[in-house]
Amino acid sequence: APRTVLISGCSSGIGLELAVQLAHDHRQRYQVVATMRDLGKKGALEAAAGEALGQTLTVAQLDVCSDESVAQCLSCIQGGEVDVLVNNAGVGLVGPLEGLSLAAMQNVFDTNFFGAVRLVRAVLPGMKKRRKGHIVVVSSVMGLQGVVFNEVYAASKFALEGFFESLAVQLLQFNIFITLVEPGPVVTDFEGKLLEQVSTAEFPDTDPDTLHYFRDFYLPASRELFRSVGQSPQDVAQVIVKVISSPRPPLRRQTNARYTPLAALKAVDPSGSLYVRTSHRLLFRWTRFLNLGLRCLACGCLRIRIWPR
Ligand code: NAD
Repeated sequence: APRTVLISGCSSGIGLELAVQLAHDHRQRYQVVATMRDLGKKGALEAAAGEALGQTLTVAQLDVCSDESVAQCLSCIQGGEVDVLVNNAGVGLVGPLEGLSLAAMQNVFDTNFFGAVRLVRAVLPGMKKRRKGHIVVVSSVMGLQGVVFNEVYAASKFALEGFFESLAVQLLQFNIFITLVEPGPVVTDFEGKLLEQVSTAEFPDTDPDTLHYFRDFYLPASRELFRSVGQSPQDVAQVIVKVISSPRPPLRRQTNARYTPLAALKAVDPSGSLYVRTSHRLLFRWTRFLNLGLRCLACGCLRIRIWPR
């Protein structure tokens, strides 16, 4: 029988691509429940699903921030059984800390962290009873290392990493696997929404130096990073499809080999200084040469002077 795959956040980006790729599996191994908060946005998914719609793919409403919505969504699934849960829904938040409201920060945690926790708590009893299941979490390389002006978003992804790594130990007893997928920059609406957010934001209570670093260093560097090493949502979805079809899925899976050298800096120096100093230099000393610096990292040659004189 096909495995039921429930995915959150399918109106756009990685979630949409993943739902469509699984639904088009030529061996028809999956029955996809593609969910989204606002069903008014289902047009793009339905168009991309084509003939799979109503066959191997159904669309359902799900707001990961609402207990009622989660219960309602699961009650509509045949037998209530979810074999694979993909926690994909997420929101970003960038900007100087002093200029962001606590409510905005809490919303990031409520969506990215508690949204996933809420869904896992709902499907886990069934998976435990059946002694099988797979929980996939779309984390980020920012779940492994902090990124300037992304403190709260990175914290929400670190929270996911700690939570699911802890849970993975217990769940092996139940033959349930967990996979944290860690993309680098992905060219989706995500970045567009964030840039729109910051271009209109005032960032009150932020000193002029910090604003200057954010606007004139971080923002151009971020755009350049997406341009130079950004992946497509199709590529990320392909990696997730592979992970889902694997008989022994890994706990962690990065998706972007061009980003791996940056991620490796933390492992190379457990004190953390190497990563922090390299990030600092990339941003503040090499902004003009950022492309070169990133290429240098991306090709793995690391012929860069990392330590300050
Ligand atoms: P996206 O904005 O296209 O997709 C995010 C989806 O989550 C949207 O469809 C949005 O409507 C949905 N969502 C937000 N709040 C929700 C809620 N309360 N309930 C249900 N759905 C909700 O961007 P994306 O890049 O496809 O993001 C998917 C995941 O990938 C996110 O978890 C994001 O953190 C992660 N990610 C993105 C990037 C990137 O650079 N784009 C990099 C690493 C990880």
